[in-house]
Amino acid sequence: MLPYLQNLLRMTRGDFTLAPRLAVYYVTMQCNLNCAYCEDFGARRNHQVTPTPRLEDAKRILRVIRSGVDRLWLTGGEPLLVSHLAELLAYARNELKFREISLITNGVLLFRKPTTEITEDTEKSRLKTSVDSVFSVVKHVDRLIVSLDSLEPQTLNQVSVPDAYANTVIENVRAAATLQKEHHFKLILNAVITPETLPGLDALLAFCAENHIRISFSPQSVNNLPRYELVTSAEYRAFIEKLVALKKQGAPILGSLSYFKMLLDQTPYECYPTLIPRILPDGWLTYPCRPMEKAGGEQGGRAVNLLNVQSWDEAWRMAAKTYGDAPTSCVSCFQQCYAEPSLMQAHPFEYLTEKFRGMDPGTYAPG
Ligand code: SF4
Ligand code: SF4
Repeated sequence: MLPYLQNLLRMTRGDFTLAPRLAVYYVTMQCNLNCAYCEDFGARRNHQVTPTPRLEDAKRILRVIRSGVDRLWLTGGEPLLVSHLAELLAYARNELKFREISLITNGVLLFRKPTTEITEDTEKSRLKTSVDSVFSVVKHVDRLIVSLDSLEPQTLNQVSVPDAYANTVIENVRAAATLQKEHHFKLILNAVITPETLPGLDALLAFCAENHIRISFSPQSVNNLPRYELVTSAEYRAFIEKLVALKKQGAPILGSLSYFKMLLDQTPYECYPTLIPRILPDGWLTYPCRPMEKAGGEQGGRAVNLLNVQSWDEAWRMAAKTYGDAPTSCVSCFQQCYAEPSLMQAHPFEYLTEKFRGMDPGTYAPG
């Protein structure tokens, strides 16, 4: 709570470079899927992306992160492809003592082997190791976030999960849900809303209610903005309005009312991009945000490599020196992972209400 209050104080001084609430570390850029909406990674880009670092380097990166941030998200690519993931998680939990750890996965490798072999030999061996270690992964996380956009294999096949794995992912999610109590973690589904998935989202909501799973929704983003066919669709608006109504009735739907309002009104929000910094697999800190780093302009980039510094403060100072303060009026994107924490930082009353309901809005948005 103290960092939140300190950030509020900074905001009253017009400062947009706020202290991080959590850090996102991409453990790998490699992925075993090729989601149609993925703008970052995916199997089609596996040969172009940064290699997955050695365990010792990954540990060192986490050590530097922990010197300034106490909540961690691990994502990818697909983290379960990383054979040392369980060891890295154990290190983050037991030695670095992160206060909260979340893991984001596409769910293919949870608990069961895929029904069909994935093509490349190297990938096969990684898959085997990952599947063997999955229980040791689950026991170290507070939140397991699985991407699942539909219960319909045909729809999944169109947008994210090939036919061969669709039922596996759904079964894996069901199995993971039953383990929440015993292993003390919360299972969260994240569904991407696309014109294709929209008709099946009511069934997904019902599935979550039946299996005691929390759910969050992200509209498909194209160049950092919600896809045009969605924002002009009456069905999409009706679905967001339904989420608002259900949430007001207490349904375990993640996403703040401010965020849903922003989706409906398409109004710009004040972005505080440094609230959730991203660190790439090989240690590069993106500053002030991933969209600006990817854009490659003068306002942001790969500011400093955490393998070359001793502490988070040192990295942060170097990044700010290279690229200056965070922008004060950027409306370049509506990405939930930046919008949600920014809105919650700016709306203390709603933030407290959400916290009171047991849903931490500072860590809603996967991705
Ligand atoms: S699982 Fe995630 S990283 Fe992989 S292709 Fe899909 S959206 Fe991209
Ligand atoms: S709106 Fe997007 S691009 Fe602009 S600062 Fe925020 S996260 Fe970065």
